Amino acid sequence: TMSTSISSDFGNKHITPGIGRVSNDLVIEKGKGTWVWTTDGKKWLDFTSGIGVTCLGHAHPAITAAVTSQVEKISHSQVNIAHSLSQLQLIEKLIPVMPSPELDTFFFTNSGSEAVENAVKVAKNYTNRRGVVVMQGSYHGRTYATSAMTTSKTVYSAGFGASLPGIYPTPFPYASQLHVPADTPVEKMTELSLSHLALLFKQQIPAHEVACIVIEPVLGEGGYVPAPKEWLQGLREVCDKEGIILVFDEVQSGFGRTGKMFYSEYSGVVPDIQIMAKGIAGGLPLSAIVAKNYVMKGQKPGSMGGTYSGNALACAAGMAVLETFEKENILDNVNARSEQLFATLREVQQSELTGHMIRDVRGAGLMVGVEFTPFTEPPSAASIISGAAVGANKSESQPGSVPQKGGQRVKDIGSRVAKKCLEKGMLILTTSVFDVIRF
Ligand code: PMP
Repeated sequence: TMSTSISSDFGNKHITPGIGRVSNDLVIEKGKGTWVWTTDGKKWLDFTSGIGVTCLGHAHPAITAAVTSQVEKISHSQVNIAHSLSQLQLIEKLIPVMPSPELDTFFFTNSGSEAVENAVKVAKNYTNRRGVVVMQGSYHGRTYATSAMTTSKTVYSAGFGASLPGIYPTPFPYASQLHVPADTPVEKMTELSLSHLALLFKQQIPAHEVACIVIEPVLGEGGYVPAPKEWLQGLREVCDKEGIILVFDEVQSGFGRTGKMFYSEYSGVVPDIQIMAKGIAGGLPLSAIVAKNYVMKGQKPGSMGGTYSGNALACAAGMAVLETFEKENILDNVNARSEQLFATLREVQQSELTGHMIRDVRGAGLMVGVEFTPFTEPPSAASIISGAAVGANKSESQPGSVPQKGGQRVKDIGSRVAKKCLEKGMLILTTSVFDVIRF
């Protein structure tokens, strides 16, 4: 290490300040497994996994070998010229791990956002309808169309001008998003979310003009919230009844992250289009949509494509990921590590030391969020009815009460925890506008 004199200052000067970072002081030079090394010679435990990408860890030898061997054969085999062998081989390996054999028709792109854009194009093309329903609090990307679909934070669209029309957000079944008390039963939140959707069809766009409903099976950048099974079933019923294409964005929740290959497998609900990226190639830029055959069947040749669509090196990495999942029983490991993580986090949650600062520990597999009790509690139903002041019915010792420090309320605990982790040599991210850290 220390192979360079280029400093973070150089990056801070020459890269747009529009890129936000966990740290502006660090320059990562290499990685191995769960560790990364910075140019100052320090070693960091990487709990960000490159934002949910490095599912086999950094520099896994299987990926290195596959990419090395592919680059010697051909690195760019353009798919609008002829079929690319590595892409066909990857599809052959992907088909058996799809949540349903019905999902068998693929299109490859380079980033999650591009895949989302294409899912919307496909749904509009198939239905000949204009509307796209998304969940409020969701994240689908930063491109022109996807930033219009993203409602997890205003920073992704503010100041960037007119947005893509025809996007209709409605709340995800998540207490903080619905602004209901943290202990609201999941059935109630499912019902609330679905009735918001029904209202949307009456007030904003009729169901028969909606091309697709796009959801994250685990709300990612919006707070790390797994979708309730009954809610996914409810959406499936609505889509079947109204002829709407159901799209699952598994960009962040896919490829083993949640203890199954795809989160939808926990519910058995099959989407019409599934979006994949991040973990699919363990660190190389690759994304894809997979659809039921009839959904893509009518597409005109030439209407889909892209210079690097399903790049050969990325596809080779994708194959190595799937082979390694099998060879190293990756899913078993995710589930074993998940049990440890949940047990520890729940212990911390119950601990007197944290003084009930932790409102919720949730997630699936190794996609885990910890939400801190917010600065201001949403009003409880009882306090609204009785006209009591917000939070006035909570005592300090009750779970869910507003955390106090020397009589002062504590704000932004998540970012303070993340900062403390950084001081101790661990990289970890927060998520959403709520007070959440994510593993
Ligand atoms: N969808 C989801 C659910 C995501 O988490 C992300 C990335 N965080 C995207 C889409 C966009 O992916 P990309 O950054 O590769 O464009």
